[in-house]
Amino acid sequence: MKAIDFLKKMNKYEKLEKIGEGTYGMVFKAKNRENQSIVALKKVRLDDEEEGIPSSALREICLLKELKHINIVRLLDILHSDKKLILVFEYCDQDLKKYFDSCDGMIDPNIVRSFLRQLLCGLSYCHSHHVLHRDLKPQNLLINKNGELKLADFGLARAFGIPVRCYSSEVVTLWYRPPDVLFGAKIYSTSIDMWSSGCIFAEMANAGKPLFPGSDVEDELRRIFKLLGTPTESEWPEMINLPDYKHFPNYQPIANLSYVIPNLSPKGIYLLKKFLVCNPLKRISAEQALKHGYFNE
Ligand code: ADP
Ligand code: MG
Repeated sequence: MKAIDFLKKMNKYEKLEKIGEGTYGMVFKAKNRENQSIVALKKVRLDDEEEGIPSSALREICLLKELKHINIVRLLDILHSDKKLILVFEYCDQDLKKYFDSCDGMIDPNIVRSFLRQLLCGLSYCHSHHVLHRDLKPQNLLINKNGELKLADFGLARAFGIPVRCYSSEVVTLWYRPPDVLFGAKIYSTSIDMWSSGCIFAEMANAGKPLFPGSDVEDELRRIFKLLGTPTESEWPEMINLPDYKHFPNYQPIANLSYVIPNLSPKGIYLLKKFLVCNPLKRISAEQALKHGYFNE
């Protein structure tokens, strides 16, 4: 797009206040002057301002426009010039992290169930279209006042990669990363999002207390193994061949996860364990999880 066309298209949106700062840049609330609708503008800051937007990234982004599902934040428009990229998204009221802050103490078990179901519906849709999220966390789950939950930033990790530091120079969180990725696995599959879903499920049930708030890769893995037990070779034969594999003591699993997540029903605990399986090949899929008895309670 030529600079003048870019400005013309930008002019369609009246920028309102800043709503967030994240991995890839700043997010603003804005109004579409043509139909008065409210949208979210995400200015993607490119690592290398000189190089412009890689064409591979643009191709990926264009594909994301085709993802249409009520539990996925719609990508409405893509504005780009040589140097700048602005993504126009459907606007949502708040993110799950802010929601946690607003409800101190406890989240109604029915709301936890509803949020998890919607998270899995969105995931199942994207996974069936061969799109991974790779960076699921409460800040990337947006919610509306009517109780709808939508996944934000789908597919951006593939287009841009996940940097070590955010735009705001905050360190990108490790808390939702599965052990295979922490051990340096380079082949990503849908199982990466399923681990993150388990961590988010436990966090919702604990009213916003993260399950594995590790401070670095080693601490993150230690926390995981102390709760779930260090995987044995028969449980996960491929583990020792991963690029960054490190030996850990042989921790035994906590006998009963309900001690750690007291507000989750036995069926909920049972489902949670299927997300939190260290071997990625044995982790439950979104589609399978939706059929679990926990959702019939
Ligand atoms: P990160 O990926 O690090 O969470 P983002 O760039 O996705 O950061 O956005 C930062 C914050 O901006 C989000 O956590 C959310 O609070 C807000 N935000 C992002 N997209 C939207 C949107 N479509 N509607 C409302 N708020 C949004
Ligand atoms: Mg985000």
